[in-house]
Amino acid sequence: MTTKDSIVLYSALGRGHLVSMVELGKLIITHHPSLSINILFLTPPPNQDTPTSPTAFTCQATAKYIAAVTAATPAITFHRIPQVSIPTALPPQALTFELCRATTRHLRRILASIPSLRAVVLDFMNYAATRVTAALNIPTYFYYTSGASTLAVLLQQPTLHENTTVSLKDLNMHLIIPGVPKIHTDDLPDPVKDRKSESYQVYIDIATCLRDSDGVIVNSFNAIEERVVEVFNQGLMEGTTTTPPVFCIGPVISSAPCRKDESECLTWLDSQPSQSVVFLSFGSMGRFSRVQLREIALGLEKSEQRFLWVIRSEFEEGDSGVVVPSLDELLPEGFLERTQGKGFVVRDWAPQAAILSHDSVGGVVTHCGWNSVLEAVCEGVPMVAWPLYAEQRLNRVILVEEMKVGLAVKEGKNGVVSSAELGERVRELMDSDKGKEIRQRIFKMKISATEAMSEGGSSIIALNRLVEVWREH
Ligand code: UDP
Repeated sequence: MTTKDSIVLYSALGRGHLVSMVELGKLIITHHPSLSINILFLTPPPNQDTPTSPTAFTCQATAKYIAAVTAATPAITFHRIPQVSIPTALPPQALTFELCRATTRHLRRILASIPSLRAVVLDFMNYAATRVTAALNIPTYFYYTSGASTLAVLLQQPTLHENTTVSLKDLNMHLIIPGVPKIHTDDLPDPVKDRKSESYQVYIDIATCLRDSDGVIVNSFNAIEERVVEVFNQGLMEGTTTTPPVFCIGPVISSAPCRKDESECLTWLDSQPSQSVVFLSFGSMGRFSRVQLREIALGLEKSEQRFLWVIRSEFEEGDSGVVVPSLDELLPEGFLERTQGKGFVVRDWAPQAAILSHDSVGGVVTHCGWNSVLEAVCEGVPMVAWPLYAEQRLNRVILVEEMKVGLAVKEGKNGVVSSAELGERVRELMDSDKGKEIRQRIFKMKISATEAMSEGGSSIIALNRLVEVWREH
Protein backbone atom coordinates (compact mmCIF):
# COMPACT_ATOMS: atom_id res chain seq x y z
CA MET A 1 0.00 0.00 0.00
CA THR A 2 1.37 3.45 -0.84
CA THR A 3 1.29 6.07 1.92
CA LYS A 4 -0.92 9.06 1.28
CA ASP A 5 0.69 12.50 1.11
CA SER A 6 0.13 14.18 4.46
CA ILE A 7 -0.59 17.78 5.33
CA VAL A 8 -0.43 19.11 8.88
CA LEU A 9 -2.73 21.91 10.00
CA TYR A 10 -1.57 23.37 13.31
CA SER A 11 -4.33 25.18 15.21
CA ALA A 12 -3.66 27.91 17.76
CA LEU A 13 -5.20 27.60 21.23
CA GLY A 14 -8.95 28.26 21.43
CA ARG A 15 -12.27 27.19 20.04
CA GLY A 16 -12.45 29.62 17.12
CA HIS A 17 -8.95 28.65 15.94
CA LEU A 18 -9.58 24.91 16.09
CA VAL A 19 -12.93 25.20 14.33
CA SER A 20 -11.33 27.28 11.55
CA MET A 21 -8.63 24.66 11.00
CA VAL A 22 -11.17 21.84 10.98
CA GLU A 23 -13.23 23.66 8.36
CA LEU A 24 -10.10 24.20 6.25
CA GLY A 25 -9.28 20.50 6.63
CA LYS A 26 -12.77 19.51 5.52
CA LEU A 27 -12.52 21.75 2.47
CA ILE A 28 -9.17 20.23 1.45
CA ILE A 29 -10.38 16.65 1.97
CA THR A 30 -13.60 17.26 0.03
CA HIS A 31 -11.70 18.37 -3.06
CA HIS A 32 -8.55 16.28 -2.58
CA PRO A 33 -9.54 13.04 -0.82
CA SER A 34 -6.18 11.48 -1.65
CA LEU A 35 -4.48 13.71 0.94
CA SER A 36 -4.23 12.78 4.58
CA ILE A 37 -5.08 15.69 6.90
CA ASN A 38 -3.55 15.85 10.38
CA ILE A 39 -4.77 18.52 12.77
CA LEU A 40 -2.55 19.44 15.72
CA PHE A 41 -4.15 21.22 18.65
CA LEU A 42 -3.03 22.67 21.95
CA THR A 43 -4.46 22.26 25.44
CA PRO A 44 -4.52 25.12 27.94
CA PRO A 45 -2.07 24.76 30.85
CA PRO A 46 -3.70 23.07 33.86
CA ASN A 47 -4.10 26.32 35.82
CA GLN A 48 -5.34 28.43 32.89
CA ASP A 49 -8.38 26.61 31.47
CA THR A 50 -11.03 29.08 32.54
CA PRO A 51 -14.52 28.49 31.19
CA THR A 52 -15.69 32.03 31.99
CA SER A 53 -17.25 32.77 28.62
CA PRO A 54 -19.56 30.85 26.30
CA THR A 55 -16.62 30.42 23.96
CA ALA A 56 -14.11 28.98 26.41
CA PHE A 57 -12.92 25.67 25.16
CA THR A 58 -12.27 23.39 28.04
CA CYS A 59 -10.48 20.06 27.61
CA GLN A 60 -13.78 18.25 27.94
CA ALA A 61 -15.53 20.37 25.33
CA THR A 62 -12.55 19.94 22.99
CA ALA A 63 -12.69 16.17 23.34
CA LYS A 64 -16.42 16.15 22.55
CA TYR A 65 -15.97 18.36 19.51
CA ILE A 66 -13.09 16.27 18.18
CA ALA A 67 -15.04 13.04 18.67
CA ALA A 68 -17.92 14.52 16.63
CA VAL A 69 -15.62 15.67 13.81
CA THR A 70 -13.79 12.32 13.75
CA ALA A 71 -17.09 10.44 13.49
CA ALA A 72 -18.30 12.65 10.61
CA THR A 73 -14.93 13.04 8.83
CA PRO A 74 -12.69 10.04 9.62
CA ALA A 75 -10.13 11.20 7.05
CA ILE A 76 -9.02 13.88 9.50
CA THR A 77 -6.62 12.66 12.22
CA PHE A 78 -6.18 14.73 15.37
CA HIS A 79 -2.94 14.97 17.34
CA ARG A 80 -3.04 16.52 20.78
CA ILE A 81 0.09 18.43 21.74
CA PRO A 82 0.73 17.34 25.37
CA GLN A 83 -0.29 19.75 28.07
CA VAL A 84 2.51 21.85 29.56
CA SER A 85 2.59 24.12 32.59
CA ILE A 86 3.15 27.83 32.20
CA PRO A 87 4.00 29.27 35.59
CA THR A 88 2.60 32.78 35.20
CA ALA A 89 -1.07 33.40 34.40
CA LEU A 90 -1.22 35.23 31.07
CA PRO A 91 -3.93 37.10 29.17
CA PRO A 92 -5.49 34.96 26.35
CA GLN A 93 -3.42 36.24 23.44
CA ALA A 94 -0.09 36.16 25.28
CA LEU A 95 -0.95 32.64 26.46
CA THR A 96 -1.57 31.56 22.85
CA PHE A 97 1.87 32.77 21.76
CA GLU A 98 3.63 31.38 24.84
CA LEU A 99 2.02 27.96 24.60
CA CYS A 100 3.20 27.53 21.03
CA ARG A 101 6.73 28.50 22.09
CA ALA A 102 6.67 26.20 25.13
CA THR A 103 5.65 23.10 23.19
CA THR A 104 8.08 23.15 20.26
CA ARG A 105 9.82 19.90 21.33
CA HIS A 106 6.47 18.07 21.23
CA LEU A 107 5.75 19.60 17.84
CA ARG A 108 9.11 18.43 16.52
CA ARG A 109 8.42 14.86 17.69
CA ILE A 110 4.90 14.74 16.19
CA LEU A 111 5.99 16.22 12.85
CA ALA A 112 8.86 13.74 12.62
CA SER A 113 6.38 10.87 13.15
CA ILE A 114 4.06 11.76 10.26
CA PRO A 115 4.93 9.90 7.04
CA SER A 116 5.05 11.60 3.60
CA LEU A 117 4.62 15.05 5.10
CA ARG A 118 4.32 17.57 2.26
CA ALA A 119 3.58 20.80 4.09
CA VAL A 120 2.62 22.35 7.40
CA VAL A 121 -0.07 25.01 7.61
CA LEU A 122 0.23 27.16 10.73
CA ASP A 123 -2.45 29.31 12.27
CA PHE A 124 -0.75 32.71 12.06
CA MET A 125 -0.79 32.95 15.88
CA ASN A 126 1.49 29.89 15.92
CA TYR A 127 4.28 31.72 14.10
CA ALA A 128 6.78 30.47 16.72
CA ALA A 129 6.47 27.00 15.19
CA THR A 130 8.45 28.18 12.15
CA ARG A 131 11.59 27.51 14.20
CA VAL A 132 10.73 23.81 14.11
CA THR A 133 9.47 23.60 10.54
CA ALA A 134 12.55 25.44 9.27
CA ALA A 135 14.86 23.12 11.22
CA LEU A 136 13.06 20.07 9.79
CA ASN A 137 13.03 21.68 6.35
CA ILE A 138 9.25 21.30 5.91
CA PRO A 139 7.48 23.68 3.51
CA THR A 140 5.56 26.10 5.72
CA TYR A 141 2.30 27.90 4.97
CA PHE A 142 0.06 30.07 7.10
CA TYR A 143 -3.70 30.17 7.45
CA TYR A 144 -4.76 33.78 7.82
CA THR A 145 -8.38 33.76 8.96
CA SER A 146 -9.12 37.40 8.15
CA GLY A 147 -9.26 39.07 4.73
CA ALA A 148 -6.60 39.72 2.08
CA SER A 149 -6.74 43.49 2.67
CA THR A 150 -5.84 43.23 6.36
CA LEU A 151 -3.11 40.77 5.41
CA ALA A 152 -1.70 43.45 3.10
CA VAL A 153 -1.71 45.91 6.01
CA LEU A 154 -0.06 43.41 8.38
CA LEU A 155 2.69 42.67 5.86
CA GLN A 156 3.64 46.36 5.90
CA GLN A 157 4.43 46.34 9.63
CA PRO A 158 8.14 45.48 9.48
CA THR A 159 8.74 48.20 6.87
CA LEU A 160 6.67 50.77 8.76
CA HIS A 161 8.67 49.92 11.86
CA GLU A 162 11.97 50.47 10.07
CA ASN A 163 10.87 53.73 8.47
CA THR A 164 9.86 55.59 11.60
CA THR A 165 10.96 55.89 15.20
CA VAL A 166 7.61 56.99 16.66
CA SER A 167 4.49 54.96 17.38
CA LEU A 168 1.99 54.84 14.52
CA LYS A 169 -0.70 56.10 16.91
CA ASP A 170 1.15 59.42 17.09
CA LEU A 171 1.39 59.87 13.33
CA ASN A 172 -2.23 60.81 12.49
CA MET A 173 -1.80 59.99 8.81
CA HIS A 174 -3.14 57.72 6.08
CA LEU A 175 -1.23 54.67 4.86
CA ILE A 176 -1.23 54.09 1.12
CA ILE A 177 -1.15 50.35 0.40
CA PRO A 178 -1.68 48.94 -3.11
CA GLY A 179 -5.14 47.47 -3.65
CA VAL A 180 -6.51 48.71 -0.32
CA PRO A 181 -8.46 51.93 0.48
CA LYS A 182 -6.50 54.62 2.34
CA ILE A 183 -6.04 53.43 5.93
CA HIS A 184 -5.88 55.97 8.74
CA THR A 185 -3.37 55.07 11.46
CA ASP A 186 -6.23 55.28 14.03
CA ASP A 187 -7.83 52.28 12.33
CA LEU A 188 -4.84 49.98 12.87
CA PRO A 189 -5.13 47.27 15.55
CA ASP A 190 -3.98 48.53 18.97
CA PRO A 191 -0.83 46.36 19.37
CA VAL A 192 0.73 47.53 16.09
CA LYS A 193 -0.05 51.19 16.80
CA ASP A 194 1.98 51.41 19.96
CA ARG A 195 5.72 50.67 19.96
CA LYS A 196 5.59 50.31 23.73
CA SER A 197 2.84 47.69 23.75
CA GLU A 198 3.92 44.19 24.77
CA SER A 199 2.70 42.56 21.58
CA TYR A 200 4.11 45.18 19.17
CA GLN A 201 7.23 43.14 18.39
CA VAL A 202 5.14 39.95 18.17
CA TYR A 203 3.14 41.37 15.25
CA ILE A 204 6.31 42.42 13.48
CA ASP A 205 7.62 38.87 13.94
CA ILE A 206 4.31 37.41 12.68
CA ALA A 207 4.42 39.66 9.60
CA THR A 208 8.02 38.67 8.93
CA CYS A 209 7.20 34.96 9.20
CA LEU A 210 4.19 35.35 6.88
CA ARG A 211 6.27 37.30 4.36
CA ASP A 212 9.03 34.67 4.35
CA SER A 213 6.68 31.67 4.25
CA ASP A 214 5.95 29.41 1.28
CA GLY A 215 2.46 30.84 1.05
CA VAL A 216 -0.49 32.33 2.90
CA ILE A 217 -3.95 30.77 2.72
CA VAL A 218 -6.63 33.43 3.18
CA ASN A 219 -10.28 32.94 4.11
CA SER A 220 -11.63 35.29 1.47
CA PHE A 221 -12.49 35.24 -2.21
CA ASN A 222 -11.57 37.26 -5.25
CA ALA A 223 -14.92 38.96 -5.85
CA ILE A 224 -14.97 40.79 -2.51
CA GLU A 225 -11.32 41.91 -2.46
CA GLU A 226 -10.52 41.92 -6.15
CA ARG A 227 -8.00 44.78 -6.23
CA VAL A 228 -5.76 43.55 -3.43
CA VAL A 229 -5.93 39.92 -4.62
CA GLU A 230 -4.70 41.11 -8.02
CA VAL A 231 -1.81 42.99 -6.37
CA PHE A 232 -0.83 39.82 -4.50
CA ASN A 233 -1.16 37.66 -7.61
CA GLN A 234 1.12 40.02 -9.52
CA GLY A 235 3.63 39.99 -6.64
CA LEU A 236 3.40 43.78 -6.53
CA MET A 237 2.88 44.45 -2.84
CA GLU A 238 5.11 47.51 -2.41
CA GLY A 239 6.80 48.17 0.89
CA THR A 240 7.36 44.50 1.62
CA THR A 241 10.67 43.06 0.52
CA THR A 242 8.94 39.98 -0.90
CA THR A 243 5.30 39.11 -1.50
CA PRO A 244 4.37 35.58 -0.42
CA PRO A 245 2.10 33.54 -2.71
CA VAL A 246 -1.48 34.14 -1.50
CA PHE A 247 -4.31 31.61 -1.91
CA CYS A 248 -7.86 32.92 -1.36
CA ILE A 249 -9.83 29.74 -0.75
CA GLY A 250 -12.95 31.09 1.00
CA PRO A 251 -15.49 31.80 2.14
CA VAL A 252 -15.02 28.96 4.60
CA ILE A 253 -17.87 29.17 7.08
CA SER A 254 -18.12 26.98 10.17
CA SER A 255 -21.13 24.72 10.24
CA ALA A 256 -21.98 24.64 13.97
CA PRO A 257 -25.44 23.12 14.44
CA CYS A 258 -28.02 25.14 16.38
CA ARG A 259 -28.65 23.72 19.88
CA LYS A 260 -32.21 23.04 21.00
CA ASP A 261 -32.00 25.56 23.83
CA GLU A 262 -30.94 28.25 21.34
CA SER A 263 -33.88 27.92 19.00
CA GLU A 264 -36.43 30.16 20.74
CA CYS A 265 -35.24 33.22 18.84
CA LEU A 266 -35.61 31.33 15.54
CA THR A 267 -39.22 30.52 16.41
CA TRP A 268 -39.75 34.22 17.10
CA LEU A 269 -38.18 35.09 13.73
CA ASP A 270 -40.66 32.71 12.04
CA SER A 271 -43.44 35.08 13.09
CA GLN A 272 -41.79 38.22 11.63
CA PRO A 273 -42.23 39.63 8.11
CA SER A 274 -39.61 38.89 5.44
CA GLN A 275 -36.36 40.96 5.75
CA SER A 276 -37.87 43.13 8.50
CA VAL A 277 -35.58 42.36 11.45
CA VAL A 278 -32.17 43.88 12.23
CA PHE A 279 -29.90 41.48 14.11
CA LEU A 280 -27.29 42.84 16.55
CA SER A 281 -24.35 40.61 17.43
CA PHE A 282 -20.83 41.46 18.55
CA GLY A 283 -18.76 38.32 18.20
CA SER A 284 -17.49 35.99 20.85
CA MET A 285 -15.98 38.70 23.04
CA GLY A 286 -17.96 41.91 22.52
CA ARG A 287 -19.18 43.26 25.86
CA PHE A 288 -20.73 46.63 26.60
CA SER A 289 -20.93 48.93 29.60
CA ARG A 290 -24.32 49.74 31.13
CA VAL A 291 -24.15 53.21 29.55
CA GLN A 292 -23.59 51.78 26.08
CA LEU A 293 -26.30 49.13 26.45
CA ARG A 294 -28.83 51.83 27.33
CA GLU A 295 -27.84 53.86 24.26
CA ILE A 296 -28.28 50.78 22.05
CA ALA A 297 -31.72 50.11 23.53
CA LEU A 298 -32.85 53.71 23.04
CA GLY A 299 -31.36 53.73 19.52
CA LEU A 300 -33.32 50.65 18.57
CA GLU A 301 -36.52 52.24 19.81
CA LYS A 302 -35.73 55.40 17.81
CA SER A 303 -35.09 53.38 14.66
CA GLU A 304 -38.63 51.94 14.87
CA GLN A 305 -37.30 48.73 13.34
CA ARG A 306 -37.84 45.17 14.45
CA PHE A 307 -34.75 43.74 16.13
CA LEU A 308 -33.09 40.63 17.54
CA TRP A 309 -30.32 41.62 19.95
CA VAL A 310 -27.62 39.46 21.58
CA ILE A 311 -26.80 41.26 24.84
CA ARG A 312 -23.50 40.72 26.60
CA SER A 313 -22.62 43.08 29.44
CA GLU A 314 -19.25 43.84 30.98
CA PHE A 315 -18.18 41.76 33.97
CA GLU A 316 -18.90 43.62 37.20
CA GLU A 317 -17.31 43.11 40.61
CA GLY A 318 -19.76 42.41 43.42
CA ASP A 319 -19.14 41.73 47.12
CA SER A 320 -18.60 38.04 46.45
CA GLY A 321 -16.74 38.16 43.11
CA VAL A 322 -17.98 38.67 39.54
CA VAL A 323 -21.70 39.39 39.21
CA VAL A 324 -23.95 39.35 36.15
CA PRO A 325 -26.52 42.17 36.22
CA SER A 326 -30.08 41.27 35.21
CA LEU A 327 -31.67 42.61 32.02
CA ASP A 328 -33.89 44.83 34.16
CA GLU A 329 -30.79 46.41 35.66
CA LEU A 330 -29.10 46.86 32.28
CA LEU A 331 -31.91 48.13 30.06
CA PRO A 332 -33.90 51.38 30.25
CA GLU A 333 -37.04 51.13 32.34
CA GLY A 334 -39.98 49.69 30.40
CA PHE A 335 -37.85 48.88 27.32
CA LEU A 336 -38.75 45.19 27.20
CA GLU A 337 -42.46 45.94 27.63
CA ARG A 338 -42.49 48.73 25.02
CA THR A 339 -40.70 46.61 22.43
CA GLN A 340 -42.59 43.39 23.10
CA GLY A 341 -43.51 41.69 19.83
CA LYS A 342 -41.24 44.03 17.87
CA GLY A 343 -37.97 43.05 19.48
CA PHE A 344 -36.36 39.95 20.99
CA VAL A 345 -33.33 39.89 23.26
CA VAL A 346 -31.02 36.94 23.83
CA ARG A 347 -28.47 36.80 26.61
CA ASP A 348 -24.78 36.18 25.73
CA TRP A 349 -24.97 33.84 22.73
CA ALA A 350 -27.30 33.17 19.79
CA PRO A 351 -27.13 30.81 16.81
CA GLN A 352 -25.79 33.51 14.50
CA ALA A 353 -25.39 31.47 11.32
CA ALA A 354 -28.99 30.19 11.53
CA ILE A 355 -30.26 33.69 12.30
CA LEU A 356 -28.47 35.30 9.37
CA SER A 357 -29.88 32.68 7.03
CA HIS A 358 -33.46 33.33 8.23
CA ASP A 359 -35.67 35.08 5.72
CA SER A 360 -37.00 37.55 8.33
CA VAL A 361 -33.52 39.06 8.87
CA GLY A 362 -32.89 42.13 6.69
CA GLY A 363 -29.76 43.63 8.27
CA VAL A 364 -27.09 43.08 10.90
CA VAL A 365 -25.22 45.38 13.27
CA THR A 366 -21.84 43.66 13.55
CA HIS A 367 -18.55 44.12 15.38
CA CYS A 368 -16.87 43.37 12.01
CA GLY A 369 -15.17 40.12 13.04
CA TRP A 370 -14.14 38.53 9.76
CA ASN A 371 -16.22 35.39 10.26
CA SER A 372 -19.29 37.50 10.90
CA VAL A 373 -18.58 39.58 7.79
CA LEU A 374 -18.26 36.44 5.64
CA GLU A 375 -21.41 34.92 7.15
CA ALA A 376 -23.35 38.11 6.35
CA VAL A 377 -21.95 38.14 2.79
CA CYS A 378 -22.87 34.48 2.25
CA GLU A 379 -26.44 35.18 3.34
CA GLY A 380 -26.70 38.51 1.51
CA VAL A 381 -27.40 40.48 4.72
CA PRO A 382 -26.26 44.15 4.64
CA MET A 383 -24.34 45.48 7.65
CA VAL A 384 -23.99 48.34 10.07
CA ALA A 385 -20.30 48.26 11.00
CA TRP A 386 -19.41 48.81 14.65
CA PRO A 387 -15.87 47.52 15.29
CA LEU A 388 -14.73 46.74 18.82
CA TYR A 389 -11.33 45.02 18.94
CA ALA A 390 -8.52 43.24 17.01
CA GLU A 391 -8.41 44.13 13.28
CA GLN A 392 -12.10 45.07 13.17
CA ARG A 393 -11.60 48.78 12.48
CA LEU A 394 -9.67 47.80 9.36
CA ASN A 395 -12.48 45.43 8.40
CA ARG A 396 -14.92 48.33 8.73
CA VAL A 397 -12.90 50.35 6.20
CA ILE A 398 -12.90 47.38 3.82
CA LEU A 399 -16.57 46.55 4.08
CA VAL A 400 -17.75 50.18 3.93
CA GLU A 401 -15.30 51.66 1.40
CA GLU A 402 -14.12 48.73 -0.68
CA MET A 403 -16.92 46.16 -0.65
CA LYS A 404 -19.56 48.89 -0.09
CA VAL A 405 -21.89 46.53 1.76
CA GLY A 406 -22.13 48.35 5.08
CA LEU A 407 -22.70 51.66 6.86
CA ALA A 408 -20.26 52.84 9.52
CA VAL A 409 -21.39 53.94 12.98
CA LYS A 410 -19.39 56.79 14.50
CA GLU A 411 -18.35 56.64 18.13
CA GLY A 412 -18.57 59.86 20.16
CA LYS A 413 -15.47 61.39 21.76
CA ASN A 414 -16.14 59.37 24.93
CA GLY A 415 -16.02 56.16 22.85
CA VAL A 416 -19.78 55.64 23.21
CA VAL A 417 -22.07 55.27 20.18
CA SER A 418 -25.10 57.47 20.88
CA SER A 419 -28.69 56.26 20.57
CA ALA A 420 -29.25 58.89 17.86
CA GLU A 421 -26.30 57.62 15.77
CA LEU A 422 -27.26 53.96 16.10
CA GLY A 423 -30.95 54.67 15.47
CA GLU A 424 -30.17 56.64 12.30
CA ARG A 425 -27.77 54.02 10.87
CA VAL A 426 -30.20 51.18 11.58
CA ARG A 427 -33.05 53.05 9.96
CA GLU A 428 -30.85 54.01 6.99
CA LEU A 429 -29.86 50.38 6.48
CA MET A 430 -33.36 48.98 6.78
CA ASP A 431 -35.39 51.77 5.22
CA SER A 432 -33.63 54.06 2.71
CA ASP A 433 -32.53 54.11 -0.92
CA LYS A 434 -28.91 53.80 0.20
CA GLY A 435 -29.83 50.76 2.30
CA LYS A 436 -31.57 49.24 -0.72
CA GLU A 437 -28.47 49.82 -2.88
CA ILE A 438 -26.27 48.10 -0.28
CA ARG A 439 -28.72 45.20 -0.04
CA GLN A 440 -28.62 44.69 -3.81
CA ARG A 441 -24.82 44.80 -3.82
CA ILE A 442 -24.42 42.25 -1.05
CA PHE A 443 -26.99 40.02 -2.69
CA LYS A 444 -24.75 39.91 -5.78
CA MET A 445 -21.81 39.03 -3.51
CA LYS A 446 -23.80 36.17 -2.05
CA ILE A 447 -24.07 34.74 -5.56
CA SER A 448 -20.35 35.35 -6.18
CA ALA A 449 -19.53 33.52 -2.93
CA THR A 450 -21.36 30.42 -4.12
CA GLU A 451 -19.66 30.66 -7.51
CA ALA A 452 -16.20 31.02 -5.92
CA MET A 453 -16.69 27.76 -4.02
CA SER A 454 -18.10 25.82 -6.98
CA GLU A 455 -15.99 23.64 -9.30
CA GLY A 456 -14.17 26.09 -11.62
CA GLY A 457 -14.74 29.01 -9.20
CA SER A 458 -11.84 31.24 -8.12
CA SER A 459 -11.44 29.73 -4.63
CA ILE A 460 -11.45 26.13 -5.83
CA ILE A 461 -8.94 27.02 -8.54
CA ALA A 462 -6.73 28.58 -5.83
CA LEU A 463 -7.10 25.49 -3.65
CA ASN A 464 -6.17 23.19 -6.53
CA ARG A 465 -3.15 25.35 -7.31
CA LEU A 466 -2.07 25.12 -3.66
CA VAL A 467 -2.38 21.33 -3.59
CA GLU A 468 -0.40 21.12 -6.82
CA VAL A 469 2.41 23.14 -5.23
CA TRP A 470 2.31 20.86 -2.17
CA ARG A 471 2.69 17.80 -4.35
CA GLU A 472 5.64 19.37 -6.17
CA HIS A 473 7.60 20.08 -2.97
N1 UDP B 1 -21.20 33.71 17.04
C1 UDP B 1 -22.38 33.04 17.29
N2 UDP B 1 -23.22 33.56 18.23
C2 UDP B 1 -22.96 34.70 18.93
C3 UDP B 1 -21.74 35.38 18.66
C4 UDP B 1 -20.89 34.86 17.70
O1 UDP B 1 -22.69 32.01 16.68
O2 UDP B 1 -23.79 35.11 19.75
C5 UDP B 1 -20.27 33.13 16.03
C6 UDP B 1 -20.37 33.86 14.71
O3 UDP B 1 -21.37 33.30 13.89
C7 UDP B 1 -18.97 33.69 14.16
C8 UDP B 1 -18.09 33.63 15.40
O4 UDP B 1 -18.95 33.29 16.49
O5 UDP B 1 -18.88 32.47 13.45
C9 UDP B 1 -17.43 34.96 15.71
O6 UDP B 1 -16.34 35.09 14.85
P1 UDP B 1 -15.86 36.53 14.34
O7 UDP B 1 -14.65 36.33 13.51
O8 UDP B 1 -16.97 37.25 13.68
O9 UDP B 1 -15.56 37.33 15.65
P2 UDP B 1 -14.64 37.03 16.94
O10 UDP B 1 -15.50 36.32 17.91
O11 UDP B 1 -13.47 36.23 16.46
O12 UDP B 1 -14.29 38.40 17.39
